[in-house]
Order: sequence, then C-alpha cells, then structure tokens
Amino acid sequence: MDSSFSYRTRETALATLADSQMDVLVIGGGITGAGIARDAAMRGLRTALVERSDFASGTSGRSSRLVHGGLRYLEHGALGLVHEACRERRALLRTAPHLVWPRSFLFPLYAGGRVPPWQLAAGMWLYDALALFRNVKRHRWLSKRALLRAEPGLRPTALRSGARYYDAQCDDARLTLAVVRDAHRHGALVANYAEVVGFETAAGRTRGARLVDRAAGNTFSVRAHVTVNATGPWSDGLRQDGETLLLRSKGAHVVVPRARVGHTEAITFLSPVDGRVMFVLPWGDLTYVGTTETESGDAPDMIVADAEDVVYLLRSANAIFPDARLQPDDVVAAWAGLRPLVRPSTATAATAVSREHFIIEAPGLVSILGGKLTTYRVMAADTVDRVVAALHELDGRPIPPKAPTARTPIVGGETDDLDAIATEVEREGFAAGSARRLVHRYGSEAPAVARLAHGDARLAAPVAAGATAIRAELVHAVQREMALRLTDLLIRRAHVFYEVPGHAVQEADELAALVAPELGWDRTRAAAEAAAYRTEVERRETFRKHL
Ligand SMILES: Cc1cc2nc3c(=O)[nH]c(=O)nc-3n(C[C@H](O)[C@H](O)[C@H](O)COP(=O)(O)OP(=O)(O)OC[C@H]3O[C@@H](n4cnc5c(N)ncnc54)[C@H](O)[C@@H]3O)c2cc1C
Repeated sequence: MDSSFSYRTRETALATLADSQMDVLVIGGGITGAGIARDAAMRGLRTALVERSDFASGTSGRSSRLVHGGLRYLEHGALGLVHEACRERRALLRTAPHLVWPRSFLFPLYAGGRVPPWQLAAGMWLYDALALFRNVKRHRWLSKRALLRAEPGLRPTALRSGARYYDAQCDDARLTLAVVRDAHRHGALVANYAEVVGFETAAGRTRGARLVDRAAGNTFSVRAHVTVNATGPWSDGLRQDGETLLLRSKGAHVVVPRARVGHTEAITFLSPVDGRVMFVLPWGDLTYVGTTETESGDAPDMIVADAEDVVYLLRSANAIFPDARLQPDDVVAAWAGLRPLVRPSTATAATAVSREHFIIEAPGLVSILGGKLTTYRVMAADTVDRVVAALHELDGRPIPPKAPTARTPIVGGETDDLDAIATEVEREGFAAGSARRLVHRYGSEAPAVARLAHGDARLAAPVAAGATAIRAELVHAVQREMALRLTDLLIRRAHVFYEVPGHAVQEADELAALVAPELGWDRTRAAAEAAAYRTEVERRETFRKHL
C-alpha cells in the first residue's frame, strides 16, 4: 500500500477537485470533519475534505487530550451521553491503541467540598455501569491513607476519601491526523491549507464551494451534491442562516514539569477557586493542568491562554499539591481553545441527534455542531446518514450500509500488540524507552520512522534539546503526514512547542533547513518558515508579559 501523504498528495487532490463532481465536500479538518470524511469514504461516496489551515489546528489540537465518558456530565443527569462516550472510549482504545491509552484517575474529596462522598460513590458506580462494566478496570473507593500512599503530594488537610477510576488519554492532534489519513486511505481527496470562502448555489441549493488554495494562492470552485460544514467554532460564520448557535466558551491549559508536581496518576479535583471540575494530567515527564471556562470574543484561531488563565490554573493546582508551589516560571507552554458548544436554546431549534451534537440541514448543506473529541465517530455516522439520505432524495441512488468505523483500525492502529512493534523498533537500534515512545506516536508505522533514522546520526538526533521527538519524525511528517509548514511540524506533529522550554525557537532555522529539501524550500522560504514559527510562538507566549 502506498502510505505517502504529502504536499504532492495535496496537489493531486486539489487538481482533481477542481474538475470533478463530488458526492460530498466536507469543510473542516478537525476531528469532526475528519471522522465524517472517513465514514463517507468508507460508504463509497466520492468524498473531499478541505481544511483552511493545518489539520487539528482548531479545537481538535487544543483539548484536554482525554477520551472519556465524562464523569462530570453525570451531575447533569446526561446518562445517555455518558453511555455513548464510554462506548466510544472502548472503540477508540481498540481502533487506535497507539494514540489512545488507558489512564487511572484519582478523585480526592475534601471536607466542605461541593461533592459529598455519597454522591461521588454513586457516580462511580453509575460510571462503571454506563460502561457496561467493560471499562479497563472498575473503580475503587480509597481511604485518606490510601490516597496519600498513592499520591503523597496531595494536600492532606481536610482530605476525607476519594476514588480511583479509569478513563483514557489521547494525542488529540495526532488522532485527528490519523483519522484524516484513514479517510484518504479509503479514497477521500484531502487537502490542508484549502479554505472555503463561499458557496456555489443554484436554484436555492448549495452545489459546492469556492476554495482558496492558501499555498498557491489561486481560487477555484468545487462541485458537490452535498456540502458538510464541520468547522467547529467557525461554523456560525459559514452557515448561511445568519443565526448564532454557538457559545464562545474558552478553555486553557498549562504545561509544567511533572517533577515539580510530583504526581504519578491523573487527578480529578474540584477547583478550590470556583468548585469546577479540573484535571492534573501526567504526560510523560510533563503535567497538564486544565482547564478554565470563560467567554471569549476572540476569533477561534487567535485564541491563546492569557495571564489570568495561567494564574487560575496554577492557583488551583497549588491548592491540591501545596508543596509544588508552582510559579509562572514553571510554565513550559500554555494553550487554549474554543469549545464548539451549542447554546441551550438551539436544542429545541435544531434536530437533537444526541444530547450534545446537533445537525442542521438546508438544501445541499448539512451543518454539524457541538460534540466532543471522544464522540466524533458517532457524530460522523449521524452526519453521513443525513448525507446519504440527501443523495438518495437527489438522484434516487441506493442508500449504502453504515460503515464499520468502530471496528476498522485507524492508520497506525493495525495491531493489538504494541510490544511486538516496540521490539521491532529496538532492533533498529533504539533504546526501550525511545522505542515505546515512537510506537505511541506512530503505532504500526513506528518501524518505518525508526528506519529513516537508522544509520543517520543527523536524523536520529532529538529535534531539539529536551524534545522527545527525533528529527526523522519531521521527515516522516512531511512524507506521510502532509506537514506543509514548520509550525505544522513543531506544534502539531512533533509537539516540540508543548515539550521544550523555549519551544526550540533557537533551532527553528536549522530545523527549517533540515526539511527544506523535502518540501522544495529555497533559503528565503526556509527563513520565512522559521520566522513564522517564532511569530506564532511569541503570540502564544504573550501571557508571560502580563504575569
Ligand atoms: C479546552 C478544551 C478541552 C477539551 N477537552 C476535551 C477532551 O478532553 N475530550 C473530548 O472528548 N473533547 C474535549 N474537548 C472538545 C473537543 O476538543 C471538540 O469538541 C472537538 O475538537 C471539536 O472538533 P471539530 O472538528 O468540530 O472542530 P475543530 O477542531 O475546531 O475543527 C474545525 C476546523 O474547521 C476549519 N475551518 C474553519 N473554517 C474553515 C473554512 N472556511 N474552510 C476550511 N476549513 C475551515 C478550522 O481551521 C478547524 O481546523 C475540549 C475542548 C476544549 C476547547
């Protein structure tokens, strides 16, 4: 199988798109659009997926990186949603075992807290029951002593008891990318840096869209029987009814060195600042603390964590891990995203297909709103059901059966034995820890990445001091992951931005030069790419000036 997925794949896709009639054009390369394109292609539809920036550059690369049933939804009685999310968690652990991994969580309760022990205990049983007792493990109730044995850094004062339960963590951007690639593997035409700037309409029906190729600069039209608006927080702007259906709820995270917090497991806790459910999450040698919840009027792609977010997150983490005494200087990186949440009034205006996502139909245009990363597959299936119904109505074609998306491995997930792949990577000269890390990023493709580095000290070297990724991963990302820009590589493919103090801005020129031959960049272009990365880092780091 040809596994290349590069700028050449993109150019071919755009050229084909310009003079083809598509069944469905999906706008938005976040997890929702990726899932829809994958599902549609698997049902045999002539499918295209276009993304204005990079895949997962929106909310899907700015989440808490959890694949979870959503314990906190139990407080709102959303049992159907939790059950659905638990089922999806199981499907993702099966189809993308390299990118989604089980994680144990401790939920400590303190005297005077908003949630009394009986309520958490009942919630825990319900959580297991809604997963049909098929979660990784069942929860356990823990005494204060047991909690402190597990996590000695927890604040002991007023600690009463708590629970250990199980959910999953995921690499959100890489999961989105893997789903995009799977859509391509099933025949979808896919392009990033291709922005929809208007719709083609005739006789009151959307018949496709006008696109700008943001790499080449030209504009052209794509003909599609059905167009799907899967643009997450951008979707109000793209629908043609002029209504505002989304809330603008911002969520921020900070990354700090794990050694500074000193925890082992993930911690779910109630923020002592305002009682909201928050997380302290282990991520290799790092810790993620999240999240905030505030209204924001900023454009979705301009959303960054601000000083207030950072202070709130550090204060909350310090309250539960008092010896950590986290300071702004401890922050390695911060990020923020906009939750594409649907306004409560929309629930009645739109067709409720689940408790959390909504589909709005106009002739030739289907819009999907809301949802979460965990449930993307259900959202995709519901949307494609509408697409095939619209196609049937249009030209009488038979309705294809549903796609086996819950059983079909996502790119890299074609294995149930990650250890065997790690052993294969070790044979290429990698230490056990590095091999495991490669396997967790690339799954069944890890040996191919390892082979790129084999015998090439330059490519076997870390991307930058302190980075877990090696330089061969950048080459792989260009050849097989449609990375077009240095920002794509360092922010979403190799996570250098999140991991490396200083974000490797010093190495930006050298790294741009490394991938320049792969991407056909001359010196000027390589310098411009390095400068663009530095500018993006500076924008995301503005909070430091106000702390
Ligand atoms: C702080 C935070 C934490 C979260 N944590 C979790 C979690 O732990 N687990 C979970 O399950 N969910 C979580 N979520 C929710 C989840 O991240 C989102 O529901 C999901 O990522 C939304 O995906 P999407 O594809 O709908 O939107 P997006 O990922 O935003 O994708 C929309 C895409 O459309 C593109 N686009 C916009 N306009 C155009 C155009 N004109 N032409 C072409 N492309 C266009 C954008 O560039 C963007 O990439 C979290 C959300 C936030 C904000």
